[in-house]
Amino acid sequence: MDDCIFCKIIKNEIPNTTIYEDDDIKAFFDISQVTPGHTLIVPKKHVKNIFEYDEDLAQRVFKKVPMIARAIKESNPDIIGMNICLNNGEIAYQSVMHSHIHLVPRYSDQDGFS
Ligand code: 5GP
Ligand code: ZN
Repeated sequence: MDDCIFCKIIKNEIPNTTIYEDDDIKAFFDISQVTPGHTLIVPKKHVKNIFEYDEDLAQRVFKKVPMIARAIKESNPDIIGMNICLNNGEIAYQSVMHSHIHLVPRYSDQDGFS
């Protein structure tokens, strides 16, 4: 998708901070950090949102989530939890129409996430 910002990030045509990547996914810091370490996991295949995943893609993408969540948690002893979510469709606050999973590390009940 030529005009997709996350496809450009996957191709490194836009600067980004990648923390993990393989044939199927890329994980990089969100440009607007809700809390420090806020990461997005995107499938390298352009799919708009969860409604476009088939079983094979879902298996290849979602099986990586615990490994990446653990790596983020282990990078900072102050992380005591993590919100993980996908927004699907504008009504659900999806603003970039290339599917992505948010991983938002949690530090305390006053870490700015609400
Ligand atoms: P959504 O609202 O679609 O669930 O989340 C989209 C996320 O993409 C937002 O948290 C936003 O900060 C992030 N984002 C938008 N543009 C860029 C960008 O160019 N680079 C990075 N790293 N994140 C972006
Ligand atoms: Zn895309």
